Amino acid sequence: MNNKKVLITGICGQDGAYLANFLLKKGFKVYGIYRRSSSDNLWRLRYFNIINKVSLFDIDLKESIEVFNLIRKLKPNQIYNLAAQSFVQTSFTNPHETTQTNAIAVLNLLESIKSLKLDCGFYQASTSEMFGNINSVKQGELSGFYPRSPYAVAKLYAHYLCKNYREAYNMSIYSGILFNHESPLRGMEFVTRKITFFLAQYYLKQNNILELGNIYSKRDWGFAGEYVEVMHKILVSNKAFDYVVGTGKTTSIKQFINYCLKHLNIKYQWEGMGINEVCIDKKNNKVFIRINKKFYRPTEVNFLKADITKIKKDLKWEPKVSIDKLAIMMLDEDLKSIN
Ligand code: NDP
Ligand code: GDP
Repeated sequence: MNNKKVLITGICGQDGAYLANFLLKKGFKVYGIYRRSSSDNLWRLRYFNIINKVSLFDIDLKESIEVFNLIRKLKPNQIYNLAAQSFVQTSFTNPHETTQTNAIAVLNLLESIKSLKLDCGFYQASTSEMFGNINSVKQGELSGFYPRSPYAVAKLYAHYLCKNYREAYNMSIYSGILFNHESPLRGMEFVTRKITFFLAQYYLKQNNILELGNIYSKRDWGFAGEYVEVMHKILVSNKAFDYVVGTGKTTSIKQFINYCLKHLNIKYQWEGMGINEVCIDKKNNKVFIRINKKFYRPTEVNFLKADITKIKKDLKWEPKVSIDKLAIMMLDEDLKSIN
C-alpha cells in the first residue's frame, strides 16, 4: 500500500473498472463514484474481483454538493474523471443530461478542488470526438476541433475549462485526448461490442440478423486495458498537460466485421450499396448483416486517426494491441460468456 488515495468517477464503466484494477495493483487506496441502479452495474468490478477492494459512493456527478462533500472528506491525491454519458448516439436524444454530466459536472469538480485548495492531480477524460469533422489525415495535440454531436460539444467545453483552470489557478489538471478504446468490457451499445456479441451468438446458433448504421466510418481503435495505464502515466509524469492517445491506425466498421468473420471462419459475401448493402452467409445464402437507417447519426464523424508522435517521444508509450487482435480478444470472451 502506498497510502495514496485516488477517486475515480465512473468507476463502474469500462475504463473505471480497468483503471481501478490497475491502481489497486499499484497499491493505491481506490474510491469510486457510481450510480446505484436497479439493474446490475457492478459486473465489471466483479469481472476483476475487486468489489470488496474499492470503496464505492453512490452519488450522481450532477449533485455538486454531494460531490464537494465527498472530496472534502476524502482529500484524494488524484482524481480521474471518467464518468460521462459516453454514448454519442444518445447525446442527440438526451442533450441536456449529456451536457450536465459531461460539461457542467466537470465545472463543479474543478470548483470543489479549487475552493478546498486541494493539492490533487486531476485527470479529465477528453475524447477524439472533439476533432470531429476537421478533415485532416491525422489528429494531434495541435489540431483544431470541430465537434459533431452534443457529446463532443460538452466534452470540448470540459476540455477548455480544464485548460483555463490550469492556467488561471495553477492547478494540476491533465487531459488525455483518447481515441476509441474497446475491450470485452465495452458497453453493448458501442459498435465493436455490438458486432462481436452478435457474431459470437451467430457462430453458435446461426440465426438472427445484425442491423448497423454507417459501416464506412473509420475509427482509431485501441485496447482499453492499455489506455488506462496511460491515464496514470500522463498524470504522474508531469511533462505536459494534454496528450493524444491512440494507435495511429484507422479501420472502418466493415473491415472490423471482416476481421471478426475471418477469426470465426464464417465465409461471407458483401452485396449491394448504401442502405441496401448486406452481408450474406455463403453456407446458407442468407443475409445476416444489413443496414438500418435508424443507426445513422444526424451528424457523423467519418474519419479518426491519431497522431501519437508526442506521447511516443515524451512518455515512451506505444500501443501493443492491434485492432485485429482486439477483435479476436473480444470475440473469444463473448464466445466464452455465451457458451
Ligand atoms: P462508460 O460509459 O463505460 O462509463 C461511464 C460511466 O460513467 C458509467 O459507469 C456511468 O454510469 C457513469 N456515469 C454517467 N453519468 C453519470 C452521472 N451523472 N453520475 C455518476 N456517474 C455517471 O464509458 P468508458 O469507460 O468507455 O469511458 C470513460 C470516459 O472516457 C468517459 O468520460 C468517456 O466519455 C471517455 N472516453 C471514452 C472513450 C472510449 O472509446 N471508451 C474515448 C474517449 C473518451 P451509469 O451506468 O450509471 O450511466
Ligand atoms: P463513437 O465513435 O464514440 O461514436 O463509438 P461507436 O462505437 O458508438 O460508433 C463508432 C462508429 O460506428 C460511428 O461512426 C457510428 O456511426 C458507426 N456505427 C455504425 N453502425 C452502428 C451501430 O449500429 N451502433 C453504433 N454504436 N455505431 C454504429
